[in-house]
Amino acid sequence: MHVHLPPAARRPHARLTRAAVVTTGSTRYRARPSPAGITVVSDSIELPALYLKRNEDARLRAGHLWVFSNEVDVARSPLGTFEPGQAVAIVDHRDKAIGVGYVNPNSLIAARLVSRGLEHALDRSLIVHRLNIALALREQLYAQPYYRLVYGESDGLPGLVLDRFGDVVVGQIATAGMERIKDAITDAVVKVLKPRQLWWKNDSSIRAMEQLPEYADLGHGEYGGEVVAREGELAFGIDPVGGQKTGWFYDQRENRDQLARFVRGKRVLDMFSYLGGWGLRAAAYGASEVVCVDASAAAVEATARNAERNGLADRVTAIRADAFDHLKALREARERYDVVILDPPAFIKRKKDFKEGSLAYRRLAELGMQVLARDGILVMCSCSHHMPRAALLDGVQQGARHLDRQVQMLVSLQQGPDHPVHPAIAETDYLKGFICRVLPA
Ligand code: SAH
Repeated sequence: MHVHLPPAARRPHARLTRAAVVTTGSTRYRARPSPAGITVVSDSIELPALYLKRNEDARLRAGHLWVFSNEVDVARSPLGTFEPGQAVAIVDHRDKAIGVGYVNPNSLIAARLVSRGLEHALDRSLIVHRLNIALALREQLYAQPYYRLVYGESDGLPGLVLDRFGDVVVGQIATAGMERIKDAITDAVVKVLKPRQLWWKNDSSIRAMEQLPEYADLGHGEYGGEVVAREGELAFGIDPVGGQKTGWFYDQRENRDQLARFVRGKRVLDMFSYLGGWGLRAAAYGASEVVCVDASAAAVEATARNAERNGLADRVTAIRADAFDHLKALREARERYDVVILDPPAFIKRKKDFKEGSLAYRRLAELGMQVLARDGILVMCSCSHHMPRAALLDGVQQGARHLDRQVQMLVSLQQGPDHPVHPAIAETDYLKGFICRVLPA
């Protein structure tokens, strides 16, 4: 049924003077003054208000979750009056509340919206609710409890990542707001999943932007026992403290599934192999020989152990080397592989590094093609948000033309569905790749 309401009823708002009313569209809330600015009160919560300047609510209303520091009306809500990570009501310049979020006066991203409206406080019960919604998707997608359970903004929990490894959860907190409610998150995870262990792998360099220290620690459970990632039919021992990120890259799982069609009976080179995710999956799909190359000694040792563990050691070799040096050496030695997989770390961490970084991707693609057989398969990936998909393919194409080769792009790759993309937040769409056939010109 369509109901016509007079404009005032459809968009109720009132000018917020001291002790006035903040509205969210459906409900009215009393607001009263407090030392930290206006306090917004609903039936269930009481929060200081973070005011936006005129028109700076548009992006949030369009679905984004971030407030940049220059969008805050600091005359009405001086950022210095907030503590890092404090929960706030985000209120537009017409005094209409947008929702509940958290603030960090030390960060360029001054606030993140966690919940629209003023019904829900930033507490354990909200996190439990979000975890259950996230879990429902993953349980539908995967037969076994091995996946990214929470992917930050895309799962309505900005600044929080949780990866699940059976009865172990490894979390990463990126913001002061999530750090402040870490105990509530821990309680929520324990309530929903009852894990044997919850690790906090809070050592990302992006924490510096929120002035947070870097550390890795057990958040729940007892020390000891093995942590295993399962993918395909394989098991990979991972290290939740010393490993990369959470210890495993679930984002490539569905892309690695694609190897089945390309590697049977083939010689495969897996560059930047970490624990051998691509290489071991290729070996399991029937590759005749797999070489995994990584610069990290720990990763190379773990790859060899993982090959052994999965009964693939007879076909898998793990080598410690710099990828660029190794590819050049293979080129000089005229070694050739049927399938070359290039899945490097992010070459472009900041936008200003685009030129240099995109050149590195192109150089890498070219080196990869130089060790490919005449009719070979190149898997080229980038996990840099700042590297557009089209630019990556351009780099492959330019490299091919430079070598007088011809490229057919066969499969376009992206992060798996346990890393959902938030359509309003471009940063959530970061992984791209291609499976290409490379032929002589
Ligand atoms: N392909 C992996 C993920 C790669 S993570 C997977 O699917 O799981 C990036 C890896 O690149 C890390 O293991 C790191 O040790 C390695 N690395 C970084 N720089 C390197 C270099 N110059 N040469 C070789 N390996 C490098």
